[in-house]
Amino acid sequence: MEPKFIVDSNAGKLARWLRMMGYDALFFNNIDDAHLIDLALKGGRVVLTKDTQIVKRRVATNGQLKVVLTPDDDPKQQLRQVVKELKLDCRLGQFTRCLECNQSLVTRSKEEVKELVPPYVFRTQTQYMQCPACLRVYWRGTHWQRMKEELEGLAGEG
Ligand SMILES: [Zn+2]
Repeated sequence: MEPKFIVDSNAGKLARWLRMMGYDALFFNNIDDAHLIDLALKGGRVVLTKDTQIVKRRVATNGQLKVVLTPDDDPKQQLRQVVKELKLDCRLGQFTRCLECNQSLVTRSKEEVKELVPPYVFRTQTQYMQCPACLRVYWRGTHWQRMKEELEGLAGEG
């Protein structure tokens, strides 16, 4: 069973990277600690945070709540640390989850997205995924390629 996450407000970019890898990573702007911890406990989620106070709470010290401190300011450094510490699989399910809202993406045919993507994309791309929640369409463009390379680099570092 792959771990699920909840990312604290102070480490938002980390949530996007985890989603990019296919991991379920909740994120809310300005969530308070009590709410964060409550959601983590209810959903069996690992808390990722820069907040050293959360680690000191009883639920964390008694092992009920799993917290990983990500003290680095650089999100890629945070990601590198989390991948290493929790032995995450960088090739788990790259680009299967919406980067904006954490929903699992669904495959769409070219015709289905015709009205939703720029004409040059429609002409050149054949594979599309869509988020059922925010309806954002994803395709294997240069942006995708660049992120994939970064993840592969990370996986290679072991
Ligand atoms: Zn979405």
